[in-house]
Amino acid sequence: MRASRRYTARHATAKRPGEPFSPIAVSYASLHGGSKRASSRLQEFRLCTSKLKVRTAFRCGRKCKGSKAVCALPKVPKGSKAVCTQPKVPKGQWPWLPSWIALHARRGSLRKCWEGHQLKLDRQDGRKFGGCQNCGWQAPSGTPIHACHECKWTLCISCSLQPRLPALKDDPLFHEPHCPSLLGYSGSVKYPRAGTVIICPGGNYEFLCPHEGMPVADFFNRHGINALVLRYRLLPNYSPQDAIDDLTAAVKFVRRCCKGPVAALGFSAGGHLVASHALHRGSETKKSNDLRTDVDAQILIYPGIDPKDWKHPDKCGFYDYDKCFAHVPALLKNGSELLGGRGFSAPPTFIVSSTKDEVCPANKHGDPYVKALRRRRIPYVYMRGNFGGHGFGLGRGWTDSCIAWLHKRGFGPKCQYIHHLEAKGMGPSGHIHRRED
Ligand SMILES: [Zn+2]
Ligand SMILES: [Zn+2]
Repeated sequence: MRASRRYTARHATAKRPGEPFSPIAVSYASLHGGSKRASSRLQEFRLCTSKLKVRTAFRCGRKCKGSKAVCALPKVPKGSKAVCTQPKVPKGQWPWLPSWIALHARRGSLRKCWEGHQLKLDRQDGRKFGGCQNCGWQAPSGTPIHACHECKWTLCISCSLQPRLPALKDDPLFHEPHCPSLLGYSGSVKYPRAGTVIICPGGNYEFLCPHEGMPVADFFNRHGINALVLRYRLLPNYSPQDAIDDLTAAVKFVRRCCKGPVAALGFSAGGHLVASHALHRGSETKKSNDLRTDVDAQILIYPGIDPKDWKHPDKCGFYDYDKCFAHVPALLKNGSELLGGRGFSAPPTFIVSSTKDEVCPANKHGDPYVKALRRRRIPYVYMRGNFGGHGFGLGRGWTDSCIAWLHKRGFGPKCQYIHHLEAKGMGPSGHIHRRED
C-alpha cells in the first residue's frame, strides 16, 4: 500500500501583517493551585456555543454575545484557590468509579497501589514482593522499593519518581462538566504560526482520561507545537453531538487566536469524536469571512471507529449504564460513514492501532478507516502493530513519527522557515510531496 501523493498545504488564516501573536488569555483558573512550577498555571479558555447557552446556565463572567465563541471570565487573582467546583460525579460516589478513571496508582502526590492503598518505602526481599508493576524490573534483594503491604504491589524507585497525574479533586478534566473549555498551561500556546493541536482525551464519552490530556499537551509544547486540551461535554447529560459542537467551537476559537494550521488529536473515544467531526467537513454553508471549522490534519490514537460495541450491554463499558445507554443510537448514527460508507470524509490522517488492543483492535477499527482513506486518496500514515493493550497514551513509540509527520504538514518550528521563504516568494508554493505508508 504505497502511493505518492501531492497535496496543497493549506494554512488556517491569511497573514495579517503586523498583527501581534496573542493567544487571548481569557481566564486563569488556578485548578493546579498547589503546583510547584510557576509556568504550570492552568489557563482555561471557555467555549460557549449558542446551543449551550440555551441549554444550560453556567457561571459566565460576561454575557455571551451572539456567535462570540469566547466568554471572558473575571480573572482569578494570583494565588487564589480553585475554580474547580462541580465534579463530574458527586464525591460520595468516587469509591465506585471505574479503576481507569480513579487511577489510584497514578494520581495525586501520595503513591498508591492500583487498589488505592498507600505505598510504603521498603526493601525488595525477593520473596514477598514481585517486580515493579510499571516497568517490570525485578530489583535485586535489598534494593529500596515502594510497596503495598496489603496487596504486595511494588514500584521501583525510578518509576516512583515519574510525574504524577492530578488527584481526582484537582483534575480539571473531571470538573465543570457543563462548561466546555480549552485547557492549557500558560506556555501551551506560545509558538507563533507553529500550528496548534487540539487534544481530545478518551474516556468512552463518559469521562476524560487525565493521562491523555495535559501530559500530551506538554509533549507537543516541548516539540515547538502549540497544544490545548479540549474538555468536551459528556454523556449522560449531553449527547455525542454536543461533543462534536464543542470540537467545532474549539477549532473556531483556535483559528481566531492562533495563526497556523490546526490539527485535532483524539485517543480512543476522543478518536471517534475527531473522526466524526471530520465527517462534517465542507457540509456547512458559510459566508466568505467565516472561520473554517474543519481541521488541517487529524491524529487518531487507538481510536474507536466501529461503534457496534456500544450496542452490547456487556461491551459498552458505561459507568452510569442506565442513563448513558439511552445515547447509544446517537453513537451508532454515523457508523457506516466512519467505516467508509457514503459520506465518509477526513483530512490527512495519522493513525495508530494496536493488534493486541482488547477494546479497539486494529482489524475492527484502524483497518476499515485506513481502507476508506486509501480509497479516497486522502494522505495518511498508519502505524499498525502489536503495541499492547488499550490506553497506552504517549507510550509505545508513536510520538516521534507523529511529530515528524506534523512537521511535514506545516506544524512546528521547522515550518517557520518555510513561512519565511514563502513570504519572500521562495517557498515550496504550498506543495509538499508526501509518500504514504
Ligand atoms: Zn519501575
Ligand atoms: Zn494495595
